[in-house]
Amino acid sequence: MGAFVVTDYLFRAAAEAGPHDILKLYNTKGNIINISPQLAPNSPHSCYKLEVVAADCNSELLGSDLAVALGFDLSSMEKSSLEVSEEVRQYLKTPTFDNWQWEDAEIMVLLQVMYTDLDFISTFNIELDVLQQFLYEVYRRYNNIPFHNFKHCFCVTQMMYGLIWLTDLRSKIDSVDLLIMLTSAVCHDLDHTGYNNAYQINARTELALRCILATDMTRHTEILNKFKTILPVFDFSNKDHRDVLMMIMIKVSDISNEARPMDVAEPWLDCLLQEFFNQSDMEKLEGLPVTPFMDRDKVTKPSSQTGFIRFVLFPLFIELANLFPCLEQHIIDPVRKALDYYTEMEKALEREKQNRAQSEKMVKPSTSKEPEAHPEPGGTTKPVNL
Ligand SMILES: [Zn+2]
Repeated sequence: MGAFVVTDYLFRAAAEAGPHDILKLYNTKGNIINISPQLAPNSPHSCYKLEVVAADCNSELLGSDLAVALGFDLSSMEKSSLEVSEEVRQYLKTPTFDNWQWEDAEIMVLLQVMYTDLDFISTFNIELDVLQQFLYEVYRRYNNIPFHNFKHCFCVTQMMYGLIWLTDLRSKIDSVDLLIMLTSAVCHDLDHTGYNNAYQINARTELALRCILATDMTRHTEILNKFKTILPVFDFSNKDHRDVLMMIMIKVSDISNEARPMDVAEPWLDCLLQEFFNQSDMEKLEGLPVTPFMDRDKVTKPSSQTGFIRFVLFPLFIELANLFPCLEQHIIDPVRKALDYYTEMEKALEREKQNRAQSEKMVKPSTSKEPEAHPEPGGTTKPVNL
């Protein structure tokens, strides 16, 4: 539910919200902002957007009320979780899975299928409505932001699920560790506000917490180096080794979009850049230092991706494939293709820039008064949309 509000109304709505309701306030650009007395007044032309998530949940029917409030039909969902076809179940185990084909309610069912097909329901005696309740709670704690949203949570979880099957991890480590890995993936960006390092962690177990913390990119090199050190003597029965592997696998899953088919991966890059640019625009507005890779004046779509693939993604993925050579074709080959694709795009942009510079040089001396009136030779090439 969303509404455009003025500040007075906003505070009244916040005051009247139930104890279980979650209020999220977005500015006109879609950034999450703090509800506080310092909030600048808005106007009919610059409306805040208030989102109230969940209904009044003080009844015993918490789960179903919540489901209805979120727009899910619980009875059909219970039925449909049993009705997911064998074909979809198999597809769900592969990195080629396309998240864009599924609505959020269907994604909730697919998450249940993962818990069911890894035998977590039977092994840990998890009641289905408890699992559903948990997933609803997770769902409403992901924010409506361009990238770090519920669909990203699903993609990371689905990649983790795929890796577990592809590497036959079930024969190598305990179910409880697998449960922690999948659940860490589900929770890893809870409450992410769209600003880096600004997220709060709601993990329950120490290991899950460490797995989630492992996704913080500031610890990337440290964790990767640890993994490289133990790789030559890797032993699945050694708990320290397993712990590092679990952190590596959630890191790989977290940044695995480029291992997916191009038509799945590319829209995700647009979402990420949109979130980055929102942050850097805000930082510029407030006079704060701007992270260069988030600055729309400094990065282009391909330049942001070629650097990331070369220096962050490849070095990480290659080490995991060293332990599991079977992953080469599933996660290394597609990333190599993505790198070629963005390298080409980068070259094309560079050519376009040069053409433009050249034409400006040619145009300037004779028509310095209105250079815009002349069409540019490179002008037919469409600039990359973000
Ligand atoms: Zn993430």
